[in-house]
Amino acid sequence: MKCNYCSNEAVYHRKISNEFVCKIHFIKTVEKKIRKTVRKYRMFSPKDKVVVGLSGGKDSLVLLFNVLELQKRYSDSPIVEAILIDEGIEGYRDESIEIAERMCREWKTPLHIVKMKNNFGKTIDRIIPSLEKLNVNACTICGTVRRRLLNDKAYELRADRLAIGHNLDDQIETFLQNIVRNDLKQILLHPPNGNIKSDKKEIVQRMKPLMSIPEKEIALYCYYKDIPIQVTPCPYVEKYYILRKKIQHFINILENQSAEIKYNLLKMNEKIINKVTTNYLKKEINQEVKKKGICKICQMPCGLKREFCYFCEIKKELNLFE
Ligand code: SF4
Ligand SMILES: [Zn+2]
Ligand SMILES: [Zn+2]
Repeated sequence: MKCNYCSNEAVYHRKISNEFVCKIHFIKTVEKKIRKTVRKYRMFSPKDKVVVGLSGGKDSLVLLFNVLELQKRYSDSPIVEAILIDEGIEGYRDESIEIAERMCREWKTPLHIVKMKNNFGKTIDRIIPSLEKLNVNACTICGTVRRRLLNDKAYELRADRLAIGHNLDDQIETFLQNIVRNDLKQILLHPPNGNIKSDKKEIVQRMKPLMSIPEKEIALYCYYKDIPIQVTPCPYVEKYYILRKKIQHFINILENQSAEIKYNLLKMNEKIINKVTTNYLKKEINQEVKKKGICKICQMPCGLKREFCYFCEIKKELNLFE
């Protein structure tokens, strides 16, 4: 089969648009879609300082490369930096730090590594034995702490935007997970294009430029662009991501029967956010989402009836306040 855009052999069939693309046009069409998403949602402008959250995984490296390329189109000296949170998971984090350092050197991007041990008080490995007492799983704690440390570092770096590497699959899995949990508030708090703008200046606005790119296209993009992929999985992922894994499996079964399923879910996610914000529920939700309570310890937003944010609550439970 020939490529739809040139005379080269096609290497990929994009079922959703029935496009056959060669390697060059596969790369070009992915990059074009990312640019289109950034423009459509006005994620950032050429003068913005954009900080990219790196996990060392494929998504965030693809994101960093594309943010750099996009900003370079309009500026000779784009202000793009990267942050990596080191949770202290032995045998897992070292590989991604090595990859992130290597790629940031190659792309001439400043990389800031934030250690959870120094900035939170304990590594994930050291928290694992206390999980039963806290009655939560490793990923909930890890995600909460990482989000906060990422935001705090981005704020310290005076970033205008914080870009994170959530792809299409990540977004719709989160959406379906919140549906089965009957959690409308979480759906509204996690719009596909990023987080809602906070009134608090200490919260840097998050953006998801890869929201329309399926995971398999990101993996193929890495392969063709020679972007390294970490091979070691986190030792806690299988143990704690049980619901997400089942949802992933369910979506992939459906996708085999109908190519548009992931995009339909993304559209539905956006529709729900737009509709809810136009009916009476908006008032209730806005009250809860926007007029949040303020944490007595760190002064960051938390639930209306709560005294402390979840980050400080975990820290308190673990006796990490000096
Ligand atoms: S799988 Fe869970 S514990 Fe491991 S890095 Fe991801 S969020 Fe953290
Ligand atoms: Zn081509
Ligand atoms: Zn707090």
